[in-house]
Amino acid sequence: MRARALFRYNRFRVNISARHTRADATDRSDLRDLTLAELEAAVVAAGERPYRAGQIASWIWRRGANSFDAMSDLPAALRQTLGSRFTLASPEVASVRRSSDGTRKLLLRLSDGEEIETVIIPGENRVTLCLSSQAGCAMGCEFCATARMGLHRNLTTAEIAGQIFAARRELDDSEEITNYVFMGMGEPLANYPRLIRTLAAMTEPWAMGISPRRITVSTVGHVPMMERLVAEIPVNIAVSLHATTDALRDRLAPINRRYPLQELIAACRRLPLKNRSRVTFEYVMLAGVNDSVDDARRLVKLLHPMRAKVNLIFFNPFPGAVLERSPREAVEIFQGILRRGNLTATIRESRGLDIAAACGQLYAEHHAAVAQPRVSESSSEIAR
Ligand code: SF4
Repeated sequence: MRARALFRYNRFRVNISARHTRADATDRSDLRDLTLAELEAAVVAAGERPYRAGQIASWIWRRGANSFDAMSDLPAALRQTLGSRFTLASPEVASVRRSSDGTRKLLLRLSDGEEIETVIIPGENRVTLCLSSQAGCAMGCEFCATARMGLHRNLTTAEIAGQIFAARRELDDSEEITNYVFMGMGEPLANYPRLIRTLAAMTEPWAMGISPRRITVSTVGHVPMMERLVAEIPVNIAVSLHATTDALRDRLAPINRRYPLQELIAACRRLPLKNRSRVTFEYVMLAGVNDSVDDARRLVKLLHPMRAKVNLIFFNPFPGAVLERSPREAVEIFQGILRRGNLTATIRESRGLDIAAACGQLYAEHHAAVAQPRVSESSSEIAR
């Protein structure tokens, strides 16, 4: 009994000390967590004129400065004051894996030791950056390696944006990021306040000035936030669908138990997308699970008459996954049925198969000893 009590006490102490470490690390805000108005207020509070905020924004958002000393056109006293009140963190690159197809997967370590993944995906005339919005994820999707981590925490605006600057440093000389997709670790709409601040900084002229059309936010079906997001910032929306019946979607993407298919599709139909691109639906092809002719026909019926695009994705297997990728022939038959049903349907080839590019897989490999017990926990939760 005594030993068990001592163990519990020690575990309590460890938890307390972990919380303190995290609190200490985040006591000061990161400059990239601030809006322009907040940046101006900080500059004025430091005894300077508001226009200095624009100079600082240029340093942190356009030039990717990762130290106060780098801001050479600011007075030394202002740099010092900012340095005493704010941080300007840059995620540490813990590992980079480069695929034979040019895909690069970065494992980034944050200031409290959490690790997240960011993927650079070169294509024809484009380079896409896949961003994470949370460390881990609470959504429990059966086909996803990140689900096995559970949710560790939300990322801050600075941490989401920090991935862009870390990725830029890994680009080849001829490369430039052209497109941004929130399809990495986490459900972006479950971290809405930080997501919206990040998107504002990415798109507004005072910060990065990227066209919203070049940004896609993917959701597994967080219905209440979808309409709000599109109304606030006109980015593209991709919905991870993966099933055509509630019974199957309840299993593959458990959020369906809260927002079932009809409710999700109705929300997609209501999205204010006039004169803008269609909703994209992501559909991971799983052998013998969701890839039948009947599934394809149900999908046509489900989406009719919406202006929709369906991306058929080859499943990227990861260690311990019980699901298998559909054979190419089945995917092509599926695509043919969608096309005859007046849907735009494209087949997405898997990228970076040789570098553990499935979302959450690189993290899982780095934390194999910790991740393994969570496999059975997560699986049994989904099976219920
Ligand atoms: S697919 Fe996306 S929403 Fe689902 S568990 Fe993985 S990261 Fe989370």
